[in-house]
Amino acid sequence: MPNHSNANLSSRDAAVVWHPFTQHQIEPLSIPITHGEGVYLVDADGKKYIDAISSWWVSIHGHAHPYLAQKIYEQALKLEQVIFAGFTHEPAIQLAERLLGHLPANFQKVFYSDNGSTAVEVGVKMALQFFHNQGQTQKRKIIAFEDAYHGDTFGAMSLGAPSAFNAPFQDMLFEVEFLPSPSDPEACIAAMREKMQDAETYAAFIFEPLIQGAGGMKMYAPETLDTLISLAHANKLLCIADEIMTGFGRTGKWFAMDYLQHKPDIACFSKGLTGGMLAMGITTCSNELFDTFLSDDRKKMLFHSHSFTANPMACAVSLASLDLMEKPETWENIARVQACHEAWVEKIRPHQIIQNLRVQGTILAFELEDGQENGYMHSIRDDAYQYFIKKGILMRPLGNTIYILAPYCISNDELEIIYTEIENFASGLVG
Ligand SMILES: *Cc1c(COP(=O)(O)O)cnc(C)c1O
Repeated sequence: MPNHSNANLSSRDAAVVWHPFTQHQIEPLSIPITHGEGVYLVDADGKKYIDAISSWWVSIHGHAHPYLAQKIYEQALKLEQVIFAGFTHEPAIQLAERLLGHLPANFQKVFYSDNGSTAVEVGVKMALQFFHNQGQTQKRKIIAFEDAYHGDTFGAMSLGAPSAFNAPFQDMLFEVEFLPSPSDPEACIAAMREKMQDAETYAAFIFEPLIQGAGGMKMYAPETLDTLISLAHANKLLCIADEIMTGFGRTGKWFAMDYLQHKPDIACFSKGLTGGMLAMGITTCSNELFDTFLSDDRKKMLFHSHSFTANPMACAVSLASLDLMEKPETWENIARVQACHEAWVEKIRPHQIIQNLRVQGTILAFELEDGQENGYMHSIRDDAYQYFIKKGILMRPLGNTIYILAPYCISNDELEIIYTEIENFASGLVG
């Protein structure tokens, strides 16, 4: 009989698999997961883990959701894949129609790709070519935030502030100008005003609306972003909202941009789009932008495609995820999770080590302050990760920033288990 224990699978894995964001020399072997159900992941030895981070922010409805699984199966039996140049299909059309129905009215066209980074790449290419197609070839520069994260492909890396993540490639990345963190609104807005002195050289401003995810779950006010967008618009820059983490209810509304008065021109989605079931990316824009790519000259079209663009199964499961998103229960869950987070924050606020408590919708974050400098390489990270794993909770701290970003169906009891273990871990750090 084949041996499906954790130990056996982990060592076979280590012999042949190279994992993402993993230092194989010092990190423990990967834990083999055999199945998932709701907020739980189950390993080969039968141990259950509460997935407190929605498996890197994707599983908004929990794991192995039967309704979503059924829709993939049904679509696979009908049409699993078709080239998306020269051809189309009902799930892609319907998904575009329904998604646009939930977005501000200026979004009128949907471009499909197959992950978050590619959705960002497409957004940047749209913005640059928008000006190129109109002969405004001096408009090339892009503005992003310090601590931004927009993905791991070369274009997306360029948009992230210089960090350990992209140091080996820094000299190969295109130049981007960074604004100070929007959590310091005055400095950030002042820097934007200064750049707008020679606005005619800028093409676009890209941002993660309201929360900078991988940069440390840094939250900032919608008013700050509104000011930045209005400055950019007054100076003819295109604004690109990277809603890859924030989309589909995560921040308490459908999209983080729903908190804004000034709407972006381009928006990128992935992660929760398919309910976390399959890989897909979407970049949306206005008809006005789309129309600048229309010409008798083929050189003006958008030169971008991936083999799995608008994969029918990914579209079908995204439609199914929208079905769930449109149910009142989902919004009750989102509000309930936020209320639980807020109640715990009030309770834990006096704690000497748990600092900078913050909540936006279903996301809770804070820093563990033990005297070391904040940041991704903070040594608390590994201890915290292992502590929670041992307790049956998947958390993946960003340095000393701990956050909860769970599937919306997580129960109050499961949240309590996480809060209690956070308290236990933090108390262990005192003295
Ligand atoms: C995860 C993420 C990306 C990259 O998406 P991938 O699918 O991992 O390439 C881009 N932007 C933000 C804000 C993200 O959270």
